[in-house]
Amino acid sequence: MVSFLDLGSVNREFRDELVQAATDVIDSGWYLQGERLRAFEGAFAEYCDAQHCIGVANGLDALILTIRAWKELGKLKDGDEVIVPANTYIASVLAVTENDLVPVLVEPDPLTFNLCPINLSKAITPKTRLIIPVHLYGRIAPMVEIMEIARRHDLLVLEDSAQAHGALLDGRKAGSWGDASGFSFYPGKNLGALGDAGAVTTNDAELARTIRALGNYGSHEKYRNLYQGVNSRLDEIQAAMLSVKLKYLDAGTQHRREIVDAYLKGIDNPWIQLPLQSSVDARAYAEHVWHLFVVRSKHRNRLQAHLAEQGIQTNIHYPIPPHKQGAYAALNELSLPLTEAIHEEVLSLPLSPAMSLEEAQRVIDACNSFVA
Ligand SMILES: *Cc1c(COP(=O)(O)O)cnc(C)c1O
Repeated sequence: MVSFLDLGSVNREFRDELVQAATDVIDSGWYLQGERLRAFEGAFAEYCDAQHCIGVANGLDALILTIRAWKELGKLKDGDEVIVPANTYIASVLAVTENDLVPVLVEPDPLTFNLCPINLSKAITPKTRLIIPVHLYGRIAPMVEIMEIARRHDLLVLEDSAQAHGALLDGRKAGSWGDASGFSFYPGKNLGALGDAGAVTTNDAELARTIRALGNYGSHEKYRNLYQGVNSRLDEIQAAMLSVKLKYLDAGTQHRREIVDAYLKGIDNPWIQLPLQSSVDARAYAEHVWHLFVVRSKHRNRLQAHLAEQGIQTNIHYPIPPHKQGAYAALNELSLPLTEAIHEEVLSLPLSPAMSLEEAQRVIDACNSFVA
């Protein structure tokens, strides 16, 4: 069988270093807010070309606490509109509604699945205050255009970089484009902890300080609480795991690109639409970190069943768009045909740094033997 993502194999590659790093934390007797967190925050800020990095408990909290900090700083208020791509993972939308702001869902660019600048411009109203571009599947959204639109309308920009650690656009990293950027280190992400973890990057020192306080009971200083904060911290063990894995992130990305290269050259089936095929662009290909390799097919469910019969595990990212979820009953009647078609047609093929080229060939052969 070719598994979709075998995390045991991914982490086994670094086992000795991870065990040593965990042992050091255990023996240190210091488990929160210590030198391992500071070391990881420094290394990750540098990796992203950002001035500040604040570790938090998970990716959703990274987004929630950034928006909350802007509210505390008087830059956002209840009822403000936030533009979010309609085809994102639900966390991007939850961060908005958790803060009592209003999500405005816009249709993506059908070629890249990312936020479309034209649809973005059309969705701006006098109540719009924030844009959340999501670098979906590992490819950076068109940030040059998005930042230009944001500056023209005086809007904040929060990148959702949960799927795009190390991705580039015009040589600039995810996490260095917006006013702030949220990252997830969920185990299956390109940079994954051995549990939950997340971070915010920003060049705004005041915002960084506020997020740090909000995630620590609203306190900048022990036993003095300026805000009604929460407890959302990245612990020392996870920070130590992440510092080990950050060193190998670019090598993992390079391996992902080799698998993707094999897929793009090898999969040849009129029933399967490959990513990037209709916008062949060598640079976009090279800057993409390929968190997911997502194909489209009008016969997606049959394709998935065929691959399963051939021993190939696949996934759907995502089967139901946020506006069709029970959690957003008020949005269920919205009509977003492109987003809805994407959710019916997408299929993610196996991809990870632990996958071999032989396994990729089995996926290719199974794809090419599919007849709709
Ligand atoms: C994974 C993910 C998140 C949430 O991250 P968690 O660490 O799981 O909370 C947010 N946005 C996107 C696009 C994601 O893929």
